[in-house]
Amino acid sequence: MRLVLLGPPGVGKGTQAVRLSKRLGVPHISTGDMFREALAKKTALGLSAKEYIDSGKLVPDDITIGLVRDRLENPDCAGGFILDGFPRDVAQAEALEKILEILGVSLDAAIYIGAGSRIVVKRIAGRRVCEGCGATYHISFNPPPEDGKCPKCGGRIYQRVDDRQEAVRERLKVYKALTEPVVDYYKGLGILKVVNGEEDANEVLEAIISMI
Ligand code: ADP
Ligand code: ADP
Ligand code: ZN
Repeated sequence: MRLVLLGPPGVGKGTQAVRLSKRLGVPHISTGDMFREALAKKTALGLSAKEYIDSGKLVPDDITIGLVRDRLENPDCAGGFILDGFPRDVAQAEALEKILEILGVSLDAAIYIGAGSRIVVKRIAGRRVCEGCGATYHISFNPPPEDGKCPKCGGRIYQRVDDRQEAVRERLKVYKALTEPVVDYYKGLGILKVVNGEEDANEVLEAIISMI
């Protein structure tokens, strides 16, 4: 199964991608997680992405597309993958089609997870993530333990810089201008599926499973 998850920042793409990855037995590929890991390790990639991420802008396409190409060429993607947070503009969507063509495969579906902006903003504001393993928590919907240590890996749980108010506004603007057209792109290819992301996470998962 080869899937792309689309939707506004904070709607629950990562949350669903983790569950789908377990259920379907294919890797979860999150460009945001890859950038944050690179940054934690202070690699050249991480350092070059930092200013874009912190301010809520897109990392330039040439960097991001190269990263995804390398990742999709990895043998563990031969049986399928779940892309989360990529493509984020039409140029990335077109580049993905070329990469997949060269690999001799194609997407099965692009799943758009939708929710109103009030819900999305609430999810972003309460999001906390683990520095060690990238696990995601929410102060109300999935609270992390009080000692601030990740139950999965013992890592420190923190709030992303770009989940604070100013960067959030910029990310929502970037989403509207650059990422929303990607939804139409996949509608045009005839592989778009739409689910209601306002339900709780288990219900959203079942809705996705029943569609694919
Ligand atoms: P995205 O990857 O789309 O940015 P995340 O999966 O990181 O979104 O989810 C954003 C925040 O909302 C996280 O704190 C997550 O725990 C929470 N969340 C995700 N899905 C739901 C849901 N269906 N109901 C309530 N909270 C959710
Ligand atoms: P969210 O799902 O909450 O929007 P992500 O973790 O997917 O957050 O992305 C965080 C940031 O990483 C983005 O705001 C952007 O700066 C960068 N980023 C992630 N994926 C891409 C991409 N495909 N193209 C460009 N920048 C990206
Ligand atoms: Zn952890």
